[in-house]
Amino acid sequence: MLRRALQLGWSRGLFIRRLGTRRGGSSLDWDGNISEIKKKIQSFLPGGTWNPLYDTSHLPPEQSDVVIVGGGVLGLSVAYWLKKLEKIQGGIRVLVVERDHTYSQASTGLSVGGIRQQFSLPENIQLSLFSVSFLRNINEHLAVVDAPPLDLQFNPSGYLFLASEKGAAIMESNVKVQRQEGAKVCLMSPEQLRNKFPWINTEGVALASYGLEDEGWFDPWCLLQGLRRKVQSMGVLFCQGEVTRFTSSSDRMKTASEKEVILKRIHEVHVKMDNSLEYQPVECAIVINAAGAWSGQIAELAGIGKGLPGTLQGTKLPVEPRKRYVYLWHCPQGPGLEAPLVIDSSGAYFRREGLGNNYLGGRSPTEEEEPDPGNLEVDHDFFQDKVWPPLAQRVPAFETLKVRRAWAGYYDYNTFDQNGVVGPHPLVVNMYFATGFSGHGLQQAPGVGRAVAEMVLEGHFQTINLNPFLFSRFYLGEKIQEQNII
Ligand SMILES: Cc1cc2nc3c(=O)[nH]c(=O)nc-3n(C[C@H](O)[C@H](O)[C@H](O)COP(=O)(O)OP(=O)(O)OC[C@H]3O[C@@H](n4cnc5c(N)ncnc54)[C@H](O)[C@@H]3O)c2cc1C
Repeated sequence: MLRRALQLGWSRGLFIRRLGTRRGGSSLDWDGNISEIKKKIQSFLPGGTWNPLYDTSHLPPEQSDVVIVGGGVLGLSVAYWLKKLEKIQGGIRVLVVERDHTYSQASTGLSVGGIRQQFSLPENIQLSLFSVSFLRNINEHLAVVDAPPLDLQFNPSGYLFLASEKGAAIMESNVKVQRQEGAKVCLMSPEQLRNKFPWINTEGVALASYGLEDEGWFDPWCLLQGLRRKVQSMGVLFCQGEVTRFTSSSDRMKTASEKEVILKRIHEVHVKMDNSLEYQPVECAIVINAAGAWSGQIAELAGIGKGLPGTLQGTKLPVEPRKRYVYLWHCPQGPGLEAPLVIDSSGAYFRREGLGNNYLGGRSPTEEEEPDPGNLEVDHDFFQDKVWPPLAQRVPAFETLKVRRAWAGYYDYNTFDQNGVVGPHPLVVNMYFATGFSGHGLQQAPGVGRAVAEMVLEGHFQTINLNPFLFSRFYLGEKIQEQNII
C-alpha cells in the first residue's frame, strides 16, 4: 500500500499537514509585545537612545512558519513564490537561513549561467521554458520600488549540441520531445553546421542540434541579488547562521496493509550563530531543504536515511558535492560574437564571455576522474589533458588560446539519476526539497521555486507536474534519466 501510494503521489493525502506552528500563537503578536515592552522600559529610563535589552537584530525570530535552509538561488526562489502565492498578504512568515552571506562556495555564483531547453525529459524542458519567460520579464517579477531595474545580461546566443554517429539517434529523439514541448530547436547536418559556423571542425560530427530561441546565458549573481532584494521587500527575514540540528516528534502509524511507518515532524530548527557558540532555536511548521550541494547533510540531520537499508526510513537523499572546474581563456582568433554555447560530443563545452575575445568552458570528469571535493582548488592539468585537446580539435583556433583564470564550484549532484528532487519527504512530513539539479539548478530555479510553493500551499503541483521528481523515487528505485547532463 505504501509503495502504491508513493507511486501515485498520494502521500500528501495519507499524511495531511497544516500550516501553523506548534505553539499556535501568532509570532507577530509575540514580536509586537516585545517591542511594546522595550518601548515602555525605554520611556522609564533616562539616557536617550540607550537600549537596556541587548541588540538582537542579528538573531532569527523565535518562530517562523517556513524556514528555508540555504539562501542560494533555489532557496530564494522558493521564498519569492511563497510570498507571491500566499493568500493573505503577510500571512506567511518566511525565514531564510544562510551560513555565508558572501556565498564564497555556493554553486549559484560559481556557475556558468547557461539556460537551455535542450533536455530529454519533458519536465526539464517545461521548467526551463517557464524560467526563460521569467528571466525575460525579470523586472515584472523582481522590481522593487525606488531600486534600479535588474540587467541580467541575457545573451540569447543558443546552445549547440554536437553528436557523433553513436549519439545521433538519441539526439533526434530528444529534439522531437523538445519540439513537442514547444522549444524552438533545429537539427543540422555537418554541412549545414560548416556553413553556419565555419570555425567548427565537423570531423566526427554526425548531427547537431541548435536552439533558435530562448537559450543562452545570463549573470547568475544578478539573479541571486535581485531575488534577495525582492524577497526582503516582501517581508522575508534573513539570518546569517548555520542550521546544525532539528528537534522533531515521531508518530507510529499503520498503512492500509498493516505496515508500520514512523512519521516525523520537525518542530524546531537550531541555528548556530556566526562567530559564536550560541545557537538559536526557531520554531516552525515547514522546513525547505535548499542547501544545494550540502542538502544531503541537512537531510541526515533530520534523520532521513537513518533506518534499515532497503526501507523508506533507510533511504538517503542521494545529493553530494561534486567539484567542477571552469577555465576562462583569451583567444583573439576564436569564433567571435556569433558563438553559441557549444557542447561537444566529447562532453567538453565552451561559450563566449563578454566582448573581449574571452571564452569560458570545461568538462565534467568521468566517475574515475572525479576530484576530491574536500576543497575548491583548481586542477590545471585537467584543462591541459582533458579539456583543451577536444576543444582544440573541434575549434582549431583554440590551439592558440591562453588560460587567464579558473575556478571550481560544487554541483549539487544527485548520484541516483542526476535530476532535481522537489517536494516533501514522505516520512519527515514537513521537510520539502528543492535540490539535486546536478548542473542545471540555476536555470530551473524560477520554476522549481514555484512548484515547491504550490506543494506547500496547495498540497500538489499546480502548473508543472513534477511528481516524477519526488523523493519517493529513490525508495521505489525509479530513475528518471535525463540524457543531456553536462
Ligand atoms: C561550475 C558550475 C557550473 C554550473 N553551470 C550551470 C549552468 O550553466 N546552468 C545552470 O542552470 N546551472 C549551473 N550550475 C548548477 C547551479 O549552479 C546549481 O544547480 C544551483 O546554483 C543550485 O542552487 P542552490 O541554491 O541549490 O545552491 P547554492 O547556490 O550552493 O546555495 C545553497 C546555500 O546553502 C547554504 N547552506 C548549506 N548548508 C547550510 C546550513 N547547514 N545552514 C545554512 N546554510 C547552508 C550554502 O552556504 C549555500 O549558500 C553550475 C554549477 C557549477 C558548480
